[in-house]
Amino acid sequence: MLRINEHYLKLQASYLFSDIAKRVTAFQAAHPEREVIKLGIGDVTQPLPPACIAAFHQAVDEMATAGGFRGYGPEQGYDFLRQAIAEHDFQARGADIQADEVFVSDGAKCDTGNIQELFATDAKIAIPDPVYPVYLDTNVMAGRTGAFRDGRYEGIVYLESTRANNYVPDLPREPVDLIYLCFPNNPTGSTITKEQLQVWVDFARDAKALILFDAAYEAFIRNPELPHSIYEIKGAREVAIEFRSYSKSAGFTGTRCAYTVVPKECTAYDAAGSRQAIHPLWNRRHCTKFNGVSYPVQRAAEAVHSPEGKAQCTALIDGYLANAKIIRQAMAELGYHTIGGDNAPYVWIEAKGDSWAFFDLLLNKAGVVCTPGAGFGRCGQGYIRLSAFNSEANVVKAMGRIREALG
Ligand SMILES: *Cc1c(COP(=O)(O)O)cnc(C)c1O
Repeated sequence: MLRINEHYLKLQASYLFSDIAKRVTAFQAAHPEREVIKLGIGDVTQPLPPACIAAFHQAVDEMATAGGFRGYGPEQGYDFLRQAIAEHDFQARGADIQADEVFVSDGAKCDTGNIQELFATDAKIAIPDPVYPVYLDTNVMAGRTGAFRDGRYEGIVYLESTRANNYVPDLPREPVDLIYLCFPNNPTGSTITKEQLQVWVDFARDAKALILFDAAYEAFIRNPELPHSIYEIKGAREVAIEFRSYSKSAGFTGTRCAYTVVPKECTAYDAAGSRQAIHPLWNRRHCTKFNGVSYPVQRAAEAVHSPEGKAQCTALIDGYLANAKIIRQAMAELGYHTIGGDNAPYVWIEAKGDSWAFFDLLLNKAGVVCTPGAGFGRCGQGYIRLSAFNSEANVVKAMGRIREALG
C-alpha cells in the first residue's frame, strides 16, 4: 500500500487568487456594463524589450542551421550568460561574485522552493510575515513544520513586518538556522538599508546560520543608497545565497529565466560538526534534477545586460514605478498610510479595517481589483496590496475612480 507524504496534508489551500476571481466574476455578472481594472496581480504586462526579442530571434535562427544547432547545454547555464551576470549584476557594484558561482535556472520560484532540500529536516526556519508564500509552503512539504493552528504553522519562526518596524523584521529572539529575506519585498514593497542588512549578516555569522536573500525586485531600486545585492554587505559571502530573476526586471515571467548565486565560501555543518561547502551540493542537485534553460532564452537574457537592453529595461521599470507613484500619491491624499512603490512595483496600504472588506469596497464602488494582504500571512491582515503592473492609462483611471468612491 502506497502512502503519501503526509506533510502535504498540512498545507493550507491557497484560496487567495481563486477567491478574488470568484468575487470579480460575481461582480461582473451583476454589473455587465462596468469595466473592472485589475491592480491585483504580481505579473508584468508590458512586452519584452526589443533587444531581448532580437537576440531571441537570432538564437532561434541559429538553432535552424546545422552549424548553429545546440542540444543539451551546461546545466548551470552557458558561460556567456554566467559571465554577463557576474560582471554586470555584481562586479560592477563592487560585489565579488564569479561566473562559476552563478546557477542559471528557469525561475526564482523553483530555486527558492528547492534550496531547502540541501538542509537538515530539523533545521530551524525563519520566514517573514507577510511574504511570498513559496518559502513557507516548500518547508511544510519537506516536513519542517508542525500542524497549522491559529493561522500559523508550528515550528516556524515568523519574522513580523509591521508598521512598528517599518516593515523590516527585527532579529529573531530564538536560535534559527535558515533565514529567508526578500527585499524589495513582495507584498509590502519595503526596502532594507545596507546598515540593516549588515545586522542580519552579522547575526547569521554569529549563529552559524544561512540567509536566503530573494532579490527578485532589485531592478526597481532607484534610491542609490540601497543595496541591490546582499554581497554588497561585508561578510555576506560566507552566509548568504541570493536569488534573482529576469521575470520582473525584464518582463520574462512567460519566457522563464532566473539564477541563484552560491558563493564558494558558503557552508553548513555535517553531523560530525565539520563545515561543508554548499556550492558543490547545489551543483549536484542542479545537475541531477535540472537540464538547463533553453539556448534562445539564455541569449535573450544575455541581451538584458547589453547597453540597449539595460536602457530598455530601465525605461520599462520606470514606467511601472511611475504607476506606483500615482497609486501611492492617490492613497496618501485620501488619508491612507502607505509604504512601497518608490523602489518596488507594489504599494502596501493600511485598510483601516478588514482586508477583504476593503477589497469588496474597492471592487463594488470603484471597479478596481486589489490583493487582500491577509493572503500573505497574519501580519497582512488589515492591509491591501496594489500593483503597478498595468498600463498608465488604466492606473490613472483606477485611481480616479478610487478617489471618487472614497473621497
Ligand atoms: C515574482 C517573484 C519571483 C520570481 O519568480 P520566477 O519564478 O523567477 O518568475 C521570485 N520571488 C518573488 C518574491 C517574486 O514576487
